Amino acid sequence: TDEKATSADHSTVKHMKWWGWGVEGVGFHHEDKPDFAPFVLKAVDVDLWTATKAQPLPFDKLDVPDSNVSPEFFAALTAAVGDDNVTSDAMDRVVHTFGKSLRDLVRVRSGKIERTPDVVVYPADEAQVQSVVDAAVAAGAVIIPFGGGSNIAGSLEPIVGETRTVVSLDLGRLNRVIEVDADSGLARIQAGALGPDLEAQLTERGWTLGHFPDSFTHSTLGGWVATRSSGMQSDKYGDIADIARGLRVVRPGGTLVIRAIPSASTGPSVREMIVGSEGRLGVITEVTVQVHRIPEKRDIYAYFFPNWATGLKAMQEISESDAAPSITRVSDARETGFSLATSKASKGMSKFLSGTVLPTLMKRKGWNLDDICLSFIGYEGGEAHAKRQKAIVDAIVKKHNGMGVGKGPGVLYDQKKFDTPYLRDFLLDMGAAGDVSETAAPWSKLAAVHDGAYAAAQGAFDKLGKVGWIMSHLSHSYHSGACLYFTFAFKFGEGDPIAEYDVVKSAIQQAFIDNGGTISHHHGVGLEHSPWLEQDISAGGVDLVKSLFASADPDGTFNPGKIV
Ligand code: FAD
Repeated sequence: TDEKATSADHSTVKHMKWWGWGVEGVGFHHEDKPDFAPFVLKAVDVDLWTATKAQPLPFDKLDVPDSNVSPEFFAALTAAVGDDNVTSDAMDRVVHTFGKSLRDLVRVRSGKIERTPDVVVYPADEAQVQSVVDAAVAAGAVIIPFGGGSNIAGSLEPIVGETRTVVSLDLGRLNRVIEVDADSGLARIQAGALGPDLEAQLTERGWTLGHFPDSFTHSTLGGWVATRSSGMQSDKYGDIADIARGLRVVRPGGTLVIRAIPSASTGPSVREMIVGSEGRLGVITEVTVQVHRIPEKRDIYAYFFPNWATGLKAMQEISESDAAPSITRVSDARETGFSLATSKASKGMSKFLSGTVLPTLMKRKGWNLDDICLSFIGYEGGEAHAKRQKAIVDAIVKKHNGMGVGKGPGVLYDQKKFDTPYLRDFLLDMGAAGDVSETAAPWSKLAAVHDGAYAAAQGAFDKLGKVGWIMSHLSHSYHSGACLYFTFAFKFGEGDPIAEYDVVKSAIQQAFIDNGGTISHHHGVGLEHSPWLEQDISAGGVDLVKSLFASADPDGTFNPGKIV
């Protein structure tokens, strides 16, 4: 199963910029969105026209700790993967230190970095991963597998105070679709493949994975599995826990192999132990995934509802109906206001959304413009299937007084969804925090979780004496409930930004638990959500997870400290 990397060294492995999201030279701009600056002023009390834009520090001003790796261990690593694929370069180490949570960004931008990995290695194939793992075990080192570095749960950083040598094992060269079993719709894919790369290789063969998280461009298959990720079209294709059927995981002395089986009664499920293990059980080198023929139709339609309650009820009814859309998403009134404020003032649909046409239409229906909720429903499959799905949904929308506005906004949303993450860097430049928290809860508790998180965030803003913002949408519907995704923002004060962030983030996480939700639907646990794990899965659940890690990795070689 050793599959050779296409490149001789790691020069083709793509990384995000060290100080923020995505690639250098791409950023969020508000100048072409006339409603945005007034919106931000009202929401978080930041005047974009007068605020001084902070620039990230030049890299050489960063306080990067020295690398702690013995010449013997460095030599063992170069023997395993070649001279060109082992580095202790400061930039490489900083890029491999954090994910992209707000906490990560604030710390890296401050220039004070307490602990980085000591060395970064780029193996070419599974055999080289095995050699690195065995060398690290022999040297008593720590291994942290690295995919795209996009997680926002604190899943990557070495623990401050770790005295052992820390190796960041970058899977970036394991980036190929190895084979597709067309009879079964199963593809063997190397774990380091980034979303666009693996999807392009599948498209060439007429297949799609159908897994499109908002971080798609900068996250990897192995990372998705290790964090139990969920893509936007999960209503149709499933979460990664459903999609990933077979796994190869390099562990000390050998490879754990889970064959791809559609379903099995061999419990407890080792496959499920690996999914969401955040690097703590070994290095995932290959995943066999369910793939699908590229559908004839991939449409996203937009709808408006008069208010959040009707939007929520409609999503629940859609999930109970015979319709099986690929996306069910409805924004609450605040998020709808935000979406309209970020529309460009150009022409066509943007103008329809931001101009006077839409408000006039809604006023005529007797709707309060401050309450309206924007929804996107996706239909994928054959022409007749997509049409039938839409007919069922249209009837439910009508029953709940909703209004369809066609495909235009859906196209806009689809185009800009991968650009939205740049907004957080922009807000940080302007001295404001913007971050997210997501949960899932049964239908009967969703409204309470939503209102509870709002109240908790407001309480936190009041405690900090700030004008703050929170907004939400429902995404990823299931038979018994759905995911709620919250975005919050506030202006930093003079004090410690992380301490302020903690007040807001903790209040929201606790509200999830208190109202019947989970601590995370698809971002994982890491260090960020770990304090709430016991309340989520009980003390007995935490004990079981601890025992698993303790017996599978008694020396704490693999990404110690994360999850529990
Ligand atoms: P990394 O961040 O590199 O690693 C994450 C964890 O997985 C670490 O513990 C690491 O050690 C481990 N790991 C990585 N690769 C391996 C491997 N091969 N073997 C063993 N362990 C491994 N998530 C979603 O699910 N849906 C979304 O829509 C979504 N949107 C996002 C939007 C933004 C703007 C951001 C910043 C994040 C978003 N995320 C989303 C979170 C993030 O993209 C996911 O957690 C993703 O799955 C991480 O993948 P990665 O390859 O970047 O992993």
